[in-house]
Amino acid sequence: MASSTITPPAAEDGRPPALVSGASFAGLSTAYWLNRLGYRVTVIEAAKDLRRGGTPVDIEGETIEILTRMGLADAVRARALPPRGFEFKDADDRTMGAIGAGTDVTGHERYEIHRDDLLDILLGAVADTAEILFGRSIDRLADGPEEVSVTFDDGTEGRYALVFGCDGNRSNTRRLVFGDGDQFTYFMGGYVFLKVVPRTDLLPAHMSQVYSVPGRMAMLNGYDDRTDIGFGFRTKGQIAYDYRDRAQQRRLIHDQFDGLGWKVPAMLDSIDADDDFYFDRLNQIRMPSWSSGRVALVGDAGYCVSPLAGFGGSMAIIGAGRLAQALERHAGDHAAAFREYEDGLRPFVEEVQQRAATNGLSTMFPADAAELAERDRKIAAGEIDF
Ligand SMILES: Cc1cc2nc3c(=O)[nH]c(=O)nc-3n(C[C@H](O)[C@H](O)[C@H](O)COP(=O)(O)OP(=O)(O)OC[C@H]3O[C@@H](n4cnc5c(N)ncnc54)[C@H](O)[C@@H]3O)c2cc1C
Repeated sequence: MASSTITPPAAEDGRPPALVSGASFAGLSTAYWLNRLGYRVTVIEAAKDLRRGGTPVDIEGETIEILTRMGLADAVRARALPPRGFEFKDADDRTMGAIGAGTDVTGHERYEIHRDDLLDILLGAVADTAEILFGRSIDRLADGPEEVSVTFDDGTEGRYALVFGCDGNRSNTRRLVFGDGDQFTYFMGGYVFLKVVPRTDLLPAHMSQVYSVPGRMAMLNGYDDRTDIGFGFRTKGQIAYDYRDRAQQRRLIHDQFDGLGWKVPAMLDSIDADDDFYFDRLNQIRMPSWSSGRVALVGDAGYCVSPLAGFGGSMAIIGAGRLAQALERHAGDHAAAFREYEDGLRPFVEEVQQRAATNGLSTMFPADAAELAERDRKIAAGEIDF
């Protein structure tokens, strides 16, 4: 599967070469569809292996439909997690409001799967059909009328009919093609931390619990064999930190949460063991266009909806599925395909982003005492659903 050479650009087997940057939900799904559409696919991933960890991914609606068309729905269902209840807790661990396990207000099929299990299933679906190169990144990219010329960070080069940026919230492809900096980043006013720990004594299995004080939130997700420890805090502006300095990020969490009640002390005791955790600002990516010439963005790279939406993984799979449908309908006309992909998906993306930036934020992360009191009133009145 992994090799160290870039396939030569000449499509000796007649299949146009396509490059995918990023091997996560967006990248592996896009690779799957491109192969089915007749492209010779190379996936590059900056990390040395799949980037694992994180909270489970919600599978529902169009995601199920697309996984079915990919022939993967049964494999995903087979690893679906048991339904999880949800409790809002106060400092004394009293339950202020709860949503029962298996409750689904829509009545539609909906389940969760561990992030790593879904990654393994998607990897299995492309491992034999795509060339996957780990530890590789794009250095330079020149988008021409007939092809995109790419120089990789190891000095090798390749030429591709199409290039897809599936490299996440801080997308390298977005930076190279659309410009540097944070111009497309909508900062939501907070930071999130997530660590999966192999202990199960913090809460019952198949339960989520959330404890909030103004501007800060502690969350636990319990499973049979592990627990997600989550922290989130609000800030007025962005804070300066080195994304490579994991000790500094842990210190930020301790600074915010040391001294808080509920189960926070036990949670903090569990986060110092190693550097294997997720920490990032809470942001969305809002771009005027998701494509330029022969390059298109898929998933978080083009339209990150934020962890608060609880929908990032699904959105990436939906994005890849919609892109494939458009490429199939407009075979040979990538510009028309990219337009259709974007016109069709953008209203849904904006709806999900809007919900996350309003309800999602005030429910999970009330900013101040007044917002927290209103959130608690809604919990008591049973006005909060998910
Ligand atoms: C380790 C990890 C843990 C996460 N945990 C959570 C969580 O707990 N809750 C939540 O809501 N969301 C989480 N996310 C984000 C969530 O996975 C995404 O919102 C969602 O999966 C969208 O998928 P994506 O494929 O667009 O982006 P991502 O899943 O972010 O994948 C992007 C991929 O691109 C790769 N990449 C980055 N830069 C380059 C480059 N220069 N060249 C090549 N490849 C590159 C990354 O290594 C990664 O594999 C996590 C993401 C990661 C990577």
